[in-house]
Amino acid sequence: MERKRIHLCLAHMSESGLEQKYVREAFETNWVVPLGPNVNGFEKDLEQFVGQNKRVVALSAGTAAIHLALVACGVGPGDEVCVQSFTFCASANPVTYLGATPVFIDSEPDTWNMDPDLLEEAIKDRIAKTGKAPKAIVPVTLYGMPYRIDRILAVADKYGIPVVEDSAEGLGSRFNGQMLGTFGKYGVLSFNGNKMITTSGGGALITPDEDSWREIMMYATQYKESYPYYQHEKIGYNYRMSNICAGIGRGQMSVAGEHIAHHKHVQKLYEELLADVHGVNVHSQPVTGEFDSNYWLCTITLDPSVRIKGQEDAYKAVAGDVTDCRPNDNVEALRVFLDAAGIEVRPVCKPMHKQPVYASAPAYVNGVSEAVFKVGMCLPSGPCVSDRDVSYVVDCIKEAIVQD
Ligand SMILES: *Cc1c(COP(=O)(O)O)cnc(C)c1O
Repeated sequence: MERKRIHLCLAHMSESGLEQKYVREAFETNWVVPLGPNVNGFEKDLEQFVGQNKRVVALSAGTAAIHLALVACGVGPGDEVCVQSFTFCASANPVTYLGATPVFIDSEPDTWNMDPDLLEEAIKDRIAKTGKAPKAIVPVTLYGMPYRIDRILAVADKYGIPVVEDSAEGLGSRFNGQMLGTFGKYGVLSFNGNKMITTSGGGALITPDEDSWREIMMYATQYKESYPYYQHEKIGYNYRMSNICAGIGRGQMSVAGEHIAHHKHVQKLYEELLADVHGVNVHSQPVTGEFDSNYWLCTITLDPSVRIKGQEDAYKAVAGDVTDCRPNDNVEALRVFLDAAGIEVRPVCKPMHKQPVYASAPAYVNGVSEAVFKVGMCLPSGPCVSDRDVSYVVDCIKEAIVQD
């Protein structure tokens, strides 16, 4: 029997077909534009979901949300922004779009997210070296894991720097019961096809108050002043979400809770089934009680002592990358083994301070993210991944290990 391929995290529509109902309504009422009833409805749904009386602006991408948040923080040419190094490039690239420089901050060993002590060290050093403080701080809910937002906010407040939470992967993750994305001045969500919920492509910015909301809305719509003719007093962007995409988003909000519960369930299954597999460790949240990860992706680390079938030939087929920083041979061999078994896995993010494109950016490093990059791997965790799929993935991992 042909097995269906098991993916990391694929879009999954509601059984009720609500997404199609809202999209059909958009066609029937001719709201096929980047504004309209679905956009407004989706924003209301999101505001209710994240709580804290926040106002939300739906946008064309999570990357656009980060970009606008930084614009609103006044980031411009010559400025610096502290960004978690252990992340996807979209956390940092908008800093570069604005002619500013990302200052990369390494991670804590337990959360894999921004190290608050290193953050403060970096801020002090940037002030000493450049004479001014960074303009914003961007922590990231990597794989859904909450960062220590209490400690990050304490540092941020001490130096008067706004926090832009990149919670693109953290929809529904909480710290001390409060949703990530609602602590900082701004919070970023993503609805790309592989995220917790999807609009096919899209994002949102969580804003603190009516004035900030209005300002972000202006920036998202070419900064058109309210005159009968086009008048612009600032440079804006065309970043508003389409009413079609927002229709999908409204439908997806009906299953957001189920999706989050499913990701947590899959994490728990992996934890159980991999508990006795020597040298394979499931990355789990600290047990101190503040942490409530949505476990967007389950991640494991593979001890360098574990030997994987085909390890001798790892990277033979990868020509060109001469970097000294890549996943260990056994991690690459496990990826290839699982791929052949119909399972999509991926190394964890390569830290931004090790990316060729950011080689010249300042970085405050403790070795954590680079070490995890060499041993880490993301496992299939999405709403399409069944209990049987998880068992199969674990069986294949066991089969891949050379027993001596
Ligand atoms: C996906 C993602 C983004 C960007 O979101 P898009 O909607 O794809 O533009 C930003 N940061 C992180 C950490 C992400 O995973």
